[in-house]
Formats: sequence, C-alpha cells, structure tokens
Amino acid sequence: MSWEAELKKNICTIEQLKEYIDLTPLEQRQLKRVIEKHPMSITRYYLSLIDKKEPNDPIRKMVIPSVEELNLSGSWDPSGELQITKMPGLQHKYAPTALILSTNRCTAYCRYCFRKRLVGLSTGEIISKFDEAVEYINEHEEITNVLISGGDTLILPTEIIENFLKKLAKIEHLHFMRIGSKVPVIFPERILQDKDLLSVLKRFSTPERKLYISTQFNHPRELTRKAIRAINKLIRRSIIINNQTVLLKGVNDDPDIIADLQNKLAGIGIIPYYIFQCRPVKRVKQNFQVPLYKGYMIISKAKRKLNGHSKRFRYVMSHRTGKIEILGIVDDEMYFRYHEARDPKNLGKLFKRKLNYTAGWLDEL
Ligand code: SF4
Repeated sequence: MSWEAELKKNICTIEQLKEYIDLTPLEQRQLKRVIEKHPMSITRYYLSLIDKKEPNDPIRKMVIPSVEELNLSGSWDPSGELQITKMPGLQHKYAPTALILSTNRCTAYCRYCFRKRLVGLSTGEIISKFDEAVEYINEHEEITNVLISGGDTLILPTEIIENFLKKLAKIEHLHFMRIGSKVPVIFPERILQDKDLLSVLKRFSTPERKLYISTQFNHPRELTRKAIRAINKLIRRSIIINNQTVLLKGVNDDPDIIADLQNKLAGIGIIPYYIFQCRPVKRVKQNFQVPLYKGYMIISKAKRKLNGHSKRFRYVMSHRTGKIEILGIVDDEMYFRYHEARDPKNLGKLFKRKLNYTAGWLDEL
C-alpha cells in the first residue's frame, strides 16, 4: 500500500477512536467539542504504540485529545512568530536562520503542538509564494541555513519537496538546509515505502553541504524497530538527524525517561539537539507544561545518567526575545543565557531571576 493510502486510514473522528479506546458518553461529547477546534488525526502505526488499558499512557497523551484542551490560559504565539514573519510562510528571527512554513498539515496532530493556532486549520501563515521567499533568502547573505517546517514538510508530495530543495540549493551562502519532521516518529512508512523520497533527500545531502532532518522523539517507546529502520535509511543516505525533545507533563517529566531516550537516540546515531521547555500555548499550557524549576531538576538528574554524546542537547525556552538556555540554580536564583537572541546585543548574555517554583516561562519570573 502506498504511504498516501496508508495515511488515509488515519483515525480522525471520535466514532473511529472509540473502536480502539474506551470513552464514556460524556468523554465522547467533550472530545467532539475539542476536535471541532483542533482536528484529531492519528496514524494507525502511532495508535498501535498506545497501551489501551492504561489511561495515563504517555503516547496516548501526545495524540489523543483531552478536555484539558478547553483551557485557554496562555498565548497563541508565545515565541512571537507573527512579529518575525517577513512574508506569509517566511520567518526570520535570528540572523543566520530562515524558517519556511511549508504546510499546515501533519501526518498526525500532536495535542501539545506549539503551532496549534495553525496546524490542521485554515491559515494565512503558510508559504504561498516560494520564489519570493527564495529571493528574500538570496538577498540576505547573513542567512546561512534554512529550516523548512510547518506542519510537517514530509507530508508534502515528493516533487514539491524536491522543488523546494532544488531552489534553495542554488543559494550559495547557505551552509546547509534542514527539514523539520515528525514523520520518523509518527509515520515511518513514509520513509520506508517511498524510494523516490529517499533518493531526492540523498541528492541534496552532498559532501560539502549536508541535509539535516530535525525530528522529535519524546519518549523511548517511540523508538520502535520500524522507526529505527526509517532513521537508518536516512542516515545511510548521508542525512544528518538531530532530535528536539519537548519536556511534557505526564509524558517524559522523569529523569529516567529522559536519560533512557537521550542514550538510545545517541545509540542509533541521532544527535540530541535540544530539550524544549513546553511553550505556554493556549489549550496546551495547562495540560503539558512542567514548571521551569521542576524541569531543570529533571534534566540535571537525567544528565547524571548520560555520557558526553547523549547530553549534547541544551535545555532551552524558545521565548519571543530569543532561545534561552536554562543553565542552573544557585541559592534562590535561576540562571539563563541567550543561546540565540532576536536582538543581537543579547546574544550570549547571562542573566538571572529569583526562583519561583511554579513559573513555567520567563515572563512569570
Ligand atoms: S507534527 Fe509537529 S507541527 Fe505537526 S502537530 Fe506535531 S508537533 Fe505540531
């Protein structure tokens, strides 16, 4: 079966879901209300990873809607993406990096997505004039890499992905290109069944200029044999894979889980890149965000179980002012550093805030 046909079998309605997961009539009504706002879509593969007898299963929590999504505390755009949008679908926040929002669709919709304002919904934030974005990047020689993200870029037809890469590859000042995708985690069939995709990706990962895929494994149970086979196919085609885990309440907020995940990622050749503080996004914050203090303690305990390779990641907060690394606690103060900064004057700046055990974001400190 083709990957497109496989994807058409996704679970998208509560009627389909209740065949797999026990839901009371009240839950069914509540979840219908949730998915009217933010669609549900779950691949059969990812659904098969859920322990259906376990209501607090971490995989379940990541993709099955919850009534907690009706909670509107937080913001739709805490990283300030709209402020750094140069044209629909093109963001430029840090001088060396441009971000293209290639699609609003994904192979499954993660309930904690920080782009919940647009994934699966109609939006004007997606690229419509790719050539104009290429022109912008061409004119800005300070841009040394482009991240094509979304949504999930690898849901797009292979010819479109090829066209994006072909146009970007002509820009000489780019050192490398990146694709953001959860396909290796949620829908490895896309990689395992599509030789054309693999050969296109390989073609654009040259000895001088590699193609990166930034993926997002959040729990060791996602590292199935199928997912590992998909990763291996990419690595064998010279694609470099890095991983951005999101720290999520009830999913991976445990030092043993984080340590196990990062060790296994390093073992299969994936670079541990970031652990992200969950953003305070509306319909996400309440259900998924771990307070910064607790997050810091989890990461530091996990690091004690990691070797140099498996702790190459940084624990960061993607704030509207920059990518802020959460460095440590001394007495009753928490220390931070701008790893990336919207205002170049802040780049590398070290700063501290009084410790607050419940704060989940810089603005609450
Ligand atoms: S695949 Fe990525 S963009 Fe899509 S819903 Fe999940 S986290 Fe969001």
